[in-house]
Amino acid sequence: MSRRARAGPPGVVLRAVPAMPGPPIPPTPDAPARRRTLRLVGDPASSAAQRPLNVLYVDHTGLVGGGERSLLALLEALPAQARARLAAPAGPLQDRARERGVCAWTIAESSGSLRLHPVHTPLALGAMAAAATGVLRAARGWPADVLHANSIRAGLIAAPVARALRLPLVLHVRDCLPPSPLTERLQRGLAANAAAVIAISRHVAATFDPDGVASRLTVLPNPFDLTRLDPSRLTRAAARERLGLPAGAPVLGLVGQITPWKGQEEAIRALAQLRAGHPQARLLIVGEAKFVAKATRFDNRAYLDGLHRLVEEVGLGDAVRFLGEREDIPEVMRACDVALTPSWEEPFGRVVVEAMAMGVPVVATAAGGPAEIITDGRDGLLVTPRRPDLLAAAIERLLDDADLRDALGTAARRTASGYGAQRHVAGVMGVYRSVVRSERKFGATPFV
Ligand code: UDP
Repeated sequence: MSRRARAGPPGVVLRAVPAMPGPPIPPTPDAPARRRTLRLVGDPASSAAQRPLNVLYVDHTGLVGGGERSLLALLEALPAQARARLAAPAGPLQDRARERGVCAWTIAESSGSLRLHPVHTPLALGAMAAAATGVLRAARGWPADVLHANSIRAGLIAAPVARALRLPLVLHVRDCLPPSPLTERLQRGLAANAAAVIAISRHVAATFDPDGVASRLTVLPNPFDLTRLDPSRLTRAAARERLGLPAGAPVLGLVGQITPWKGQEEAIRALAQLRAGHPQARLLIVGEAKFVAKATRFDNRAYLDGLHRLVEEVGLGDAVRFLGEREDIPEVMRACDVALTPSWEEPFGRVVVEAMAMGVPVVATAAGGPAEIITDGRDGLLVTPRRPDLLAAAIERLLDDADLRDALGTAARRTASGYGAQRHVAGVMGVYRSVVRSERKFGATPFV
């Protein structure tokens, strides 16, 4: 698949929201009026205020990964003009949505691999069909105006429902799927048919729709609750004490699901290299092997076992601590001198913004989202992926220079202030407004 960056082909609304605070996002240009006109409460175009817009969110997983955390931040900040319901497999995502007052329906679990395989592929297709039936029931039981699919896979589940009920499908693209003829055809079909596509970074947009077939594509960076990401809530000394870390030792932190592409192995190897100059340096590895089904791309549990073995092999012993999955990431980041995102490729990188908001300088790989968030040398450092030597050199540069750490941390905090939830919500509401007024329904183009 071509991965060229796209400059916004004609007919495509490709609006990159700048990372720095700027003017409010302009309303999406009006599409032709829709036959069954729905006016949003508070919509300036509406003279007679009518009912809110009903949005049915669809997720393919019941677990809470980065994409689901972004969805929850959106749900929390939705204005009164929108009412939300969720269709997702049973699990913590449903619980968290309900805590936010969002009613949740249970649909079948369908997180199997999309790679062609004689056994896994038919099973995955069967599970997705069962999930689609659940979404159809949910959308029939409640007058949904828009289906919002929270992933490419959720888009595949929601697409037949959108077609059957003639509802606009908003597809939220959060991943770069491994390229294959099958995923390329599926993505192209979704891009050509969805009423609107939201991509979380320009990198994801270019990977998902390299030929610009989407009629409306908007790049909207993920939302964050910036009140939770406030370094003044806790001193670094207190943050270290609660984790049992020595006050003076250099501490590196890597937060993310345990999987090869997140680069935990590279971080351990980098620490081994820089321990000669910084014998007290230590690394916190935070997260769990989240996706562990047989058909997932990597054997993430075996990878975690391998990481433990590697720590012993390179003689790091207690210098690397595995903290598992945690819900206090801002506090953990506060304890760190440097945050690492050494991913092979990162669609967005929520953890990058979180560390920056906590004033912690980040060393990230320049492959995907982080390069759209960080300006190298100004509010973080970017390195080549899969190069522990370069990662070690960048970390060492920061550990050796407290002034540089402070300067990057201060600038990082400024950059992160542009990622508040309100800005994101305004963009999403603009997309909803455009699709409910549009004539476009799913299925306008042959699917594959
Ligand atoms: N996260 C968390 N606890 C953990 C590990 C991760 O709360 O133990 C959160 C992290 O703070 C971030 C999200 O999970 O908000 C991960 O999102 P990111 O975009 O970095 O990666 P993804 O998992 O979506 O690839």
